[in-house]
Amino acid sequence: MKSLVYLGARQLAVEERDVPEPKPDEAILRVEAVGICGSELEGYLGHSSIRKPPLVMGHEFCGSIVRLGSDVHQFAIGSKVIANPLVSCGTCDRCRIGKGNICRNRQIVGIHRPGAFAEFVAVPAANLYSVPAAMDSSLASLAEPLAVCIHAVKLGLKPYENLMIYGAGPIGLLTLQAALTMGADRALVIDRQPDRLAFAKQLGAETATPEQAEKAREKLFGARGVDTIIDCVGVQSTREDAVRSINPGGTIVAVGLGQDQSLLSMNHVVRQEIAIVGSYTYSDEDFEQAVKLLSQGKVTGEGWSSTCGLEDAVGVFADLADGKAKFSKYIINLSEGAR
Ligand SMILES: [Zn+2]
Ligand SMILES: [Zn+2]
Repeated sequence: MKSLVYLGARQLAVEERDVPEPKPDEAILRVEAVGICGSELEGYLGHSSIRKPPLVMGHEFCGSIVRLGSDVHQFAIGSKVIANPLVSCGTCDRCRIGKGNICRNRQIVGIHRPGAFAEFVAVPAANLYSVPAAMDSSLASLAEPLAVCIHAVKLGLKPYENLMIYGAGPIGLLTLQAALTMGADRALVIDRQPDRLAFAKQLGAETATPEQAEKAREKLFGARGVDTIIDCVGVQSTREDAVRSINPGGTIVAVGLGQDQSLLSMNHVVRQEIAIVGSYTYSDEDFEQAVKLLSQGKVTGEGWSSTCGLEDAVGVFADLADGKAKFSKYIINLSEGAR
């Protein structure tokens, strides 16, 4: 089978690999669509400590089942499915309190085991979710990043609260759409790039560059200020800005992994009782809700995402890394040949 293999910083190649054999509890999927995640772009640039070459990445995918392991009875060959790429152990103390997303022994498809930038991928059947056969595969592949955003929104936002989002990349745009359906009052999205902000505006947000942020915040939120901030960037400036902009008693949800270390005004955090919460991946419930929002048409990739073939992805990664890509999000569609 054809696989897109990460070979080292800025090196990707399409190589021939063996089709995986299913373990007793696994299914083999023929991959139909697989999104390129921002974290994989970091991996491509050699900035990810956990992605070690040679590696087939790809953790946001939709496909159809072509083979089942001997112990799998809940799915049928030919079913269209998406997968939660986070494989938890089910036995550690975190798993036993229902927090498989922070399992002490977690493995992620496309990081610790071969991912879906390939024609076929092996996944534990317990991690699969059926999607309607008529649902567009590229749209269905957005369920994974959308689940990340639903999880983050739930950790911070209460109904009718004002919301500020840093970052108008795919996670920022999906967070915006999720938050608006989950009860956000007004939303302001901050990003450096005007074309990214245009996508956020299309989706119903007010927008501003970091330089315009303070004025935009005053204009949109007035004396009510901002109760919740979701930081989908995660660098020094967005983190400190969040601390300085949030209402007393407000919540900052940290999703972006831009930098490991940041210097924050911690005395201000103490005196204003600001909560800073990390948000990582999602629960099964978040994943199911993501599928629901997509199938109801409440969240869309239209206007800000595009598709490409597996061979084209080599160039798309380079364009994304160099800031030359036209769209915010690219989804590899395996039925598309090289163009
Ligand atoms: Zn991802
Ligand atoms: Zn566990």
